[in-house]
Amino acid sequence: MFHTPIYRDLSRSLRDVVGDKTATQFARLGVNTVDDLVRHVPRRYIAGSQMTSFETLVPGEEVAVVARVERTDVKFGARTRVETILSDGTNEKLRVTLFVPPKKDRIKDYWAGLLKPGVRGIFIGKVGEFNDQLQLTHPDFVILDGARITAKKDSDRAQKQAAIQRVTQRATMIGLYPATGKLPTWVIADTISMVLPTIHGDTLPDWVVREAQVPPLEEALREVHEPVSLDHAERGIERLRFDEAFGIQLAMAHRRATLASETATPRPRRAGGILDALDARLPFELTDGQKLIGDTIFEELAGAQPMHRLLQGEVGSGKTVVALRAMLAVVDAGGQAVLVAPTEVLAKQHYQSITAMLGDLGQGGMLGTHPDATSVALLTGSLSTAERREALNRIVTGEAGIVIGTHALFSDPVEFFDLGLVIIDEQHRFGVDQRAALNAKAANKPHMLVMTATPIPRSIAMTIFGDLTVSELRDRPRGRAEVQTVFVNTYTHPAWVERAWERIREEVAAGRQAFIVCPAISPDEKTVEGERRPTAVTELANRLAAGPLKGLNLGIVHGKQPSDERDREMAAFVAGKTDVLVATTVIEVGVDVPNASVMVVMDADRFGISQLHQLRGRIGRGAHPGLCLLMAPLTGEEPTAIQRLDAVAGSTDGFQLAEIDLAIRREGDVLGAGQSGGSSLKILRLADVDLIEHAKGLAERVMRDERAGDDPLLADLIAKAERVAAGEWLEKG
Ligand code: ADP
Ligand code: MG
Repeated sequence: MFHTPIYRDLSRSLRDVVGDKTATQFARLGVNTVDDLVRHVPRRYIAGSQMTSFETLVPGEEVAVVARVERTDVKFGARTRVETILSDGTNEKLRVTLFVPPKKDRIKDYWAGLLKPGVRGIFIGKVGEFNDQLQLTHPDFVILDGARITAKKDSDRAQKQAAIQRVTQRATMIGLYPATGKLPTWVIADTISMVLPTIHGDTLPDWVVREAQVPPLEEALREVHEPVSLDHAERGIERLRFDEAFGIQLAMAHRRATLASETATPRPRRAGGILDALDARLPFELTDGQKLIGDTIFEELAGAQPMHRLLQGEVGSGKTVVALRAMLAVVDAGGQAVLVAPTEVLAKQHYQSITAMLGDLGQGGMLGTHPDATSVALLTGSLSTAERREALNRIVTGEAGIVIGTHALFSDPVEFFDLGLVIIDEQHRFGVDQRAALNAKAANKPHMLVMTATPIPRSIAMTIFGDLTVSELRDRPRGRAEVQTVFVNTYTHPAWVERAWERIREEVAAGRQAFIVCPAISPDEKTVEGERRPTAVTELANRLAAGPLKGLNLGIVHGKQPSDERDREMAAFVAGKTDVLVATTVIEVGVDVPNASVMVVMDADRFGISQLHQLRGRIGRGAHPGLCLLMAPLTGEEPTAIQRLDAVAGSTDGFQLAEIDLAIRREGDVLGAGQSGGSSLKILRLADVDLIEHAKGLAERVMRDERAGDDPLLADLIAKAERVAAGEWLEKG
């Protein structure tokens, strides 16, 4: 592989640059190489010449303020203290306290001279509060107006001061970096300024830089780290964002190219087979969306390249029948199809609903059934040895045209006769590794359909599922009951908690059932100090059973139960034996209880928008209108929580909610650790749809370019993209 000097410079380990101790501190920030270092972007910039308004300071925050010294006193005592009052030019004051070595001799003159009234300085530290006044205790600081720093032997301070001064002299804007206690922002700035002059050249070919309309790397890095204005800094950051988007898109383009070179057995649709027989007896008419997506799928199944499609459709949008029709098309063509569910409960539910829809079409091998009938095998972890052997046998002989199961399907002994289609329900619970494991079972690659009930904004779909083509099922089957959602702020309306329990009693009296969702399992779960304790399943269930819901049958479901116990509780609720199910979000996925009409979500602010939307999909699944109460005691201190809950209460369109969610979070890690296995996106904002789209277009051009392999820069980028495609970044974090 080619290596140009730019990569050699950038991939150098920080240990070779700053020494072990500092390198270890950098590692805690995820900064291990020179490349990581120069892409460590300031959180914020301050103008070195402008005074900072103290009104904007928030206790607990790490800040750098530019301010003028108003007064300095040195107080001798058990510890010698320098107290300085700073002014921002208004009436607001900020107290600075420094503890200094208790050498009496000339110390007063030294400090009073350094921090004399009228001089301006930059003070970097954590804002605290003392006697109702804002203060900085032991900040790092540098005097901007003409003070000379006297280097004192064995004094760390002098060295620090010198470094801060270097930093402040270089730029009119000062970047504040994500830092740690032991690695303050100015050390980071100083280290960066040390390596910047050693970096020459670019990681991207000229034409890509030009087309992307971003500055060349050297220029961008200078703009990010030593900007002359905020606009320049923003331009520089944009370049680094592009790099990130481009890297990912190159990886995705590479995956697509790999997939396009794979072959699959074509499974053309056959008229007059089991698929037509099913269509003829469906008790409802397919929605336009279901028909359209069906046709797209049939067309792709008929091709010699494996289908790789993502089907997004909200809970209740009718994905199962789309999946079943795809499976039957494959069966008609002589192949087998497998449907993989994330949990045993869901696998069984799929098995039941699919065998019910098929009727005698699913009873192949028995006397007197339909001539085109196939048979359905269920393969889960809880089968007895004999049952499992029987199922495996039907799968390997091809007798079972449809196989439904859980991860048990991924274990070694499962051999298919002729696997033509893999359908994965609720993608988020499956890793790419597992997809690959199933894939490996076929001589030719099977076609692949991934289904998700979580609408995914376009930018994320392009980034994370960039190797899949996306279909959306947006129209809902008719005749579905509506779910009304209300956000109940129990801080402003504490009495409404009781009203929620009454509401549950009313519904149960009318023959309905209810869910109560809590964020925690047991009350002793760790909490962050000062934070509200999350409502716990076990505690709330006990309290309700003894009080507000006395006399009702309560069930409990959570992730720490043994799975057979959980399944039992779930089954009791499905069968209507329990009235109310107190649960954690384990009920989030797919559980179908048409009789459930109310859901109360406790501490709803602890859940994300899409999670809440997903949760409420558990109710209103039958003919009974649903009511979802989002309970949270919000004081208004966290405005985005109220925004989120209002959004969920205000819209039932999951796609719209997904985009709102992205807009509210903007810079947050939208993917969450659970979904991406630890996202590695550093500065790319997934709200940057245009940037991502642009990067995608360029990445595709690079991949199509025959000469790309000869360009050492592109060869390196593609090699990196290959590692990404192999899952190094997105899957393993
Ligand atoms: P999803 O898996 O997308 O959450 P399902 O496939 O389980 O949704 O469908 C939910 C319910 O809607 C099922 O009972 C199904 O039989 C029914 N259904 C599906 N398609 C239609 C349709 N076109 N018209 C009426 N009901 C439908
Ligand atoms: Mg489903």
